[in-house]
Amino acid sequence: MIICPHCESKNTVSFEARNRPKAPYVWRSRTCKDCGKKFTTREYTLEELANLMEKDSKTVVNLKDQCDDLLEDLAQLLSQYKNG
Ligand SMILES: [Zn+2]
Repeated sequence: MIICPHCESKNTVSFEARNRPKAPYVWRSRTCKDCGKKFTTREYTLEELANLMEKDSKTVVNLKDQCDDLLEDLAQLLSQYKNG
């Protein structure tokens, strides 16, 4: 269950989902039915998340990629909040 980060409502809908090339997750834009605000989620498989815990070097690189990617998303999100 996804909870709205603005009002904690569980009454949210997703209209838009995007796959990024090579990204192991689905990005979704969601709207809260109660407060009307938008937010985004990322959906990973548990198997993919479990890979983050593996200690071989290949996975460390993947983890770093994921972090860079997440920070990019967060930076974008913060600029959206500033403008809105
Ligand atoms: Zn809400």
